[in-house]
Amino acid sequence: LLEVRGVTKAFDRTPVLQGVDLDVPSGALAAVLGPSGCGKTTLLRVIAGFERASGGTVTVGDRLLAGPGRHVAPERRRVAVVPQEGALFPHLSVAGNVAYGLPRSAPRRDRRVAELLELVGLQGYEQRMPAELSGGQQQRVALARALAPDPVVILLDEPFSALDAGLRASVRADVRSALHASGATAVLVTHDQEEALSTADVVAVMRDGRVVQAGTPQEIYRTPHDIDVARFVGEAV
Ligand code: ATP
Repeated sequence: LLEVRGVTKAFDRTPVLQGVDLDVPSGALAAVLGPSGCGKTTLLRVIAGFERASGGTVTVGDRLLAGPGRHVAPERRRVAVVPQEGALFPHLSVAGNVAYGLPRSAPRRDRRVAELLELVGLQGYEQRMPAELSGGQQQRVALARALAPDPVVILLDEPFSALDAGLRASVRADVRSALHASGATAVLVTHDQEEALSTADVVAVMRDGRVVQAGTPQEIYRTPHDIDVARFVGEAV
């Protein structure tokens, strides 16, 4: 279970996160949905440990990652991040990119790389270079790389935004099943209502630095908390 409680963050005294609460059950895929500028990326950066929260706590299972007087370094959190555009090393093969996410001492690296590529539906692509892949394939390699060190939590920042509409639905489905198969708890942020409702197990609607409603896609869609959520979610249909 990933638990975010009352997280606040300000930049130059401008509040960006104003008491975020978020619960994601173990192994679930949550979408944080909200308009541009509401603080989604900042929230991911706080969970990853790239930013220090001004207040509140971040807990995974029984492990406090951030809180008053506590800030576990990002590399010790077992939290992986897939950036907006996969950001693969262009000079390394697919296998090289995925292996980069493995601990140096990892036994049977090649076998593990092959397993991860199979998980994201790219078996046999080891020797390809990133430039020879479609955007969706690159995104899946980035996911395999992020999953390599066996993270407990995986964070995805607008993972499908660079893909064209035709590709998006199939990559989304592949990423969703790879995440579920990996067993990691996942949070993706998006401003795309349809994406959140169709991909996630749990949706948290964010506005002005707060989560204003969280629930299953059906709950959010059928019983929106207020007129703003209704309008925002309603744009999906
Ligand atoms: P988008 O969907 O456009 O990526 P977002 O919901 O992810 O938006 P954030 O990137 O978290 O929003 O930004 C929220 C607010 O915080 C914005 O007004 C942004 O300008 C501000 N902000 C983010 N990072 C910094 C920073 N390092 N210094 C100052 N202000 C920042």
